[in-house]
Amino acid sequence: MAFIRRSSAASEKSGFAQKYVTSPDMRLYNVQDLFELARKHDINTAPLDVHSLTAALGIDLLCVPMDDEVSGELKCEEGADRWLIKVNALHHPNRQRFTIAHELAHFSLHRVGRSDFVDQNFFRNGDSSPMEAEANRFASELLMPESEFRSAAKKLSGKIESIAQYFEVSVLAVRVRAKTLGMKGHGL
Ligand SMILES: [Zn+2]
Repeated sequence: MAFIRRSSAASEKSGFAQKYVTSPDMRLYNVQDLFELARKHDINTAPLDVHSLTAALGIDLLCVPMDDEVSGELKCEEGADRWLIKVNALHHPNRQRFTIAHELAHFSLHRVGRSDFVDQNFFRNGDSSPMEAEANRFASELLMPESEFRSAAKKLSGKIESIAQYFEVSVLAVRVRAKTLGMKGHGL
């Protein structure tokens, strides 16, 4: 069980400005805020325990069979003050982890003024909007923090399948992350 301890050297410049609004219920979070919350609740961050992090944010999580093209959704039940993430139970567990992280991104960044997000394939059709691109980047940073990603890639000799296994994400997610970080070689 490895825990990531944040140091100034290890923390990535996430690019997400701290966006806070006045109501505490509508506080928005950046990636580092979520890592801080994880540490406070002793939640494993390598690989990130997305289920426990979802619970720590007070969000309900349902794993149910959905249409194949739907990855998941984030909703605030009308009249209730509860947010719910649904994830497609028919998808691979690693894909489900990315879906949950992506919905956590919508919750953290985009929920003010909107109560319903439905997501289809994340990578296949490209990023359909700046909001979706931002949610994908947030999810990637959450599941594969830069410093951990770089050291895992080094330790695992850049073997893409091993890196995917280490972070419990898809090979495709690893490729996208490596590309974003400008890493090349050894199949990356
Ligand atoms: Zn989305």
